[in-house]
Amino acid sequence: MDAEKYRVLLVEDNPGDARLVAEYLAEDSFENFELTHLATLGEALNYLHDNTPTVVLLDLGLADSQGVDTLETLYLHHPELPIVVLTGMDQEDMGLQAVRQGAQDYMPKNAIDGRLLIRSLHFAIQRKANETRMRELLRHDLLTELPNRQALVEELTHRLDSGAPGTSIGILFINLDQFKLLNESFGNRVADAVLKAVGERLRSSFKENDFVARVERDEFAVLIRINTPTKASLLTSIAARALQQLSKTLDIQYEEQDIAINLTGSIGVASYTDGEDIARSADRLIGSAETAMKKAKSEGGNSCHYFDEKLNAEAQSRVRIAFGLQNALKNNEFYLNYQPIYNARDNSLFGYETLLRWKPSFDGEVRPDEFIPILEESFQIVAVGEWVMEQACSDYQGWVSKGILDSSTRVFINFSPRQFVDAYMLKHTLALKEKYQIPAGVLHYEITENLMLTSADFVLEQLNDLQKMGICIAIDDFGSGFSSMNYLKDMPCDFLKIDGSFIRSLTKSERNSVITSAIIHLGESLGIGVIAEGVETKEVETSLLQSNCIYQQGYFRARPMGSERFQEWLTSQN
Ligand code: C2E
Ligand code: CA
Ligand code: CA
Repeated sequence: MDAEKYRVLLVEDNPGDARLVAEYLAEDSFENFELTHLATLGEALNYLHDNTPTVVLLDLGLADSQGVDTLETLYLHHPELPIVVLTGMDQEDMGLQAVRQGAQDYMPKNAIDGRLLIRSLHFAIQRKANETRMRELLRHDLLTELPNRQALVEELTHRLDSGAPGTSIGILFINLDQFKLLNESFGNRVADAVLKAVGERLRSSFKENDFVARVERDEFAVLIRINTPTKASLLTSIAARALQQLSKTLDIQYEEQDIAINLTGSIGVASYTDGEDIARSADRLIGSAETAMKKAKSEGGNSCHYFDEKLNAEAQSRVRIAFGLQNALKNNEFYLNYQPIYNARDNSLFGYETLLRWKPSFDGEVRPDEFIPILEESFQIVAVGEWVMEQACSDYQGWVSKGILDSSTRVFINFSPRQFVDAYMLKHTLALKEKYQIPAGVLHYEITENLMLTSADFVLEQLNDLQKMGICIAIDDFGSGFSSMNYLKDMPCDFLKIDGSFIRSLTKSERNSVITSAIIHLGESLGIGVIAEGVETKEVETSLLQSNCIYQQGYFRARPMGSERFQEWLTSQN
């Protein structure tokens, strides 16, 4: 039998005991053991600097170290080594303690015999191997077989600690765009297959010593070692190459069919150059790359962004906003603006849209696109949305009874998908309609196409019930989202609001003009009203009228106004 050789390091200061061990090992019939004997811990640590034995046999009582400390010191420097400790007579306690602190086994010297010693050494080696494998498993993601977040943090910490002067480390934080959508459309099995394929693609598009990890469900990270101080241009070009790799079509097997999936990613890049004067922590660096990724995502995805201090300030301002929002409702810091929607053909007022505003007591006005996404993330939009509904209804009733608003004027209110999570909306709507005596056909709920991506049946049911109650449904930002059009055939819908991005440059962009006409035709043929928002100039208004789109909203005729100004405006229209 050509058995493997085991290199045993014996650390033992008693020559008699050492000789005994040597004899026992020599008795092993396969001569599997090759022994190195050293007398002190210092010598052992020295030796281990350049040598890696298979197993260490360690006497706890040495000239330069006594007791469990001996094990601790060795373990601290070489946690990867299997260790069997030798204890003196009546020192079983110490042996057990050593095992608790990292040794694989212990052996009282007076009880040693050859068979037992050899058995214990084999055991220790095997146990350590299992332990290492377990630890490896805990550091790996089972689906993609890539290292996980914990492994990433450990590796980055290690690389930061051992970086040579003048070298640097780059980190790419990658998030897949529209992964949630993919998951919801195709289900978990396809989504998992996609993640696996993405993992493989990433692994193969980086160098061997770049560290590719899976951080979260659809998030990956790559550590890149660079032999020069960081150059942003180098890292961003690496990120750009990764984006290109990601956007190549993936062929995924699903129910015995091949489906072609096109994905894109958003990448945040951060870097650390050795010696740089910032806190050198893995968490901080990963956090910076993540912040930059969010920035790339907010710019529409399929792009990368390099972290800089300005982004840091933005992240901090987000935290401030989130904090401030917690008491905003209680402190009455929200109010509404109103923007007219008119019939551009006969110049009459068709309706108006309510727009949420926030003026925190501690600061100036915060823009809706800054605070509404945070309200949505934290589900606070549900409570704030209820406030919006109530305020809109009470304003309507007040103005009608003052005689400055025709009771048939339509009130458009914005809703976030989050507000459809349970059936409270129906109850709330019913209560408000009664309380403020609102006729059918007045309230219009603006929803976005994204709503249809989430548990569509439940949402459809609610929309149908709302419509039965006399609520009209308008699809906001139409054309800008993930329009599959498919939902239009079974979804209750009274209006399409063409996204302002098409309208603003309508007369300057052939493409936008074609898309706009197509939406107008779509509305006409489905019997759905069409409203154009973002009408900023006379030319756009005229062009829309020529295409038969009469309901319009935009700065050209009227900007959003606060309650008082809007009432003046209403009065002046009469
Ligand atoms: P939106 O629903 O698309 O609202 C129209 C946005 O376009 C408003 O921005 C409005 O001020 C702006 N706008 C109107 N006419 C023009 C124009 O001619 N040119 C340009 N450039 N912009 C124009 P605002 O008030 O900043 O609101 C931003 C978004 O915040 C809204 O977009 C809506 O998605 C959200 N939002 C506003 N109020 C609420 C609310 O009560 N609930 C929810 N869930 N979201 C709201
Ligand atoms: Ca809207
Ligand atoms: Ca809109």
